Amino acid sequence: MIEAQLEWLTKYIDDSVGTATLPIDVVRKLAEIGATLTVVKRDRSASLPKKGLRDATTVRGTNGYRVELTRSADSPPFLTHRERFSLAHEWAHILLDQYTGWRPTSRQEYYLREAACNRLAAHLLVPERAQRNLSLQHPLDAVRSAARVRLLCGVSWPVAALRIGDGLEHIVLAELRRITKKGGGQTLRVSWSAGATELFEIRGGKHIGPVHVWSELAESLKSSKRIWMETTVGSQRWALVVSKMDEDRFFAWAQDRAATDTNSKEESKMANFAQLSLIG
Ligand SMILES: [Zn+2]
Repeated sequence: MIEAQLEWLTKYIDDSVGTATLPIDVVRKLAEIGATLTVVKRDRSASLPKKGLRDATTVRGTNGYRVELTRSADSPPFLTHRERFSLAHEWAHILLDQYTGWRPTSRQEYYLREAACNRLAAHLLVPERAQRNLSLQHPLDAVRSAARVRLLCGVSWPVAALRIGDGLEHIVLAELRRITKKGGGQTLRVSWSAGATELFEIRGGKHIGPVHVWSELAESLKSSKRIWMETTVGSQRWALVVSKMDEDRFFAWAQDRAATDTNSKEESKMANFAQLSLIG
């Protein structure tokens, strides 16, 4: 039942966004559904929330909903991508509460609701019309599109990638981070991934072993910033690209060649691209 409601809510979001200017004014969206926003100063002595912990929370009172955003003295004067997403996530909680009244009764349902709010938040910040005209014909298009959506919609890489890869079977986007294992030695951890992730066994939070094709590509990057190759995964030919963002962080993406254009200039285009510095 909840799936049908979520589908209805995503349509509602696209309607409510209408032709609003991008990036979406998330503070205004909160006001529209009757929520008040208060900014709470973080105590300097208190430690910063760890990654994954929320920096916004919603309190439901007799006078409606109040969203509290926690900021520190050194927060920038504008909302960061993360804060915009946190507020959109709280907006989704309120929307779910208003339209479905869904209250989780188990831990599993709690996580389901959190995932639903993340999906709705991503849909609010990157509405359907922002991704409607994206061309995904060339192996480079996935990352170009993600870069464009990121700038246009004011979202982080994972949110942009999630919306680009949403339901697509011929694209994979991921960020890999090199970390040192407890007993020494290094490994690559997937920070986030989007698209046909199962095919490449590339899931956010998981490690990829040294024989994974993306590990091999990442480790073969010495002085160059980017490398690409073609390989067969499943029954398809895929173009794979790994780009170095800094010493221990890589952007990796793949696109099914059959679903993309394969003219003779492809190889030189890809080779040229390997010299560019598109990712910031
Ligand atoms: Zn939540």
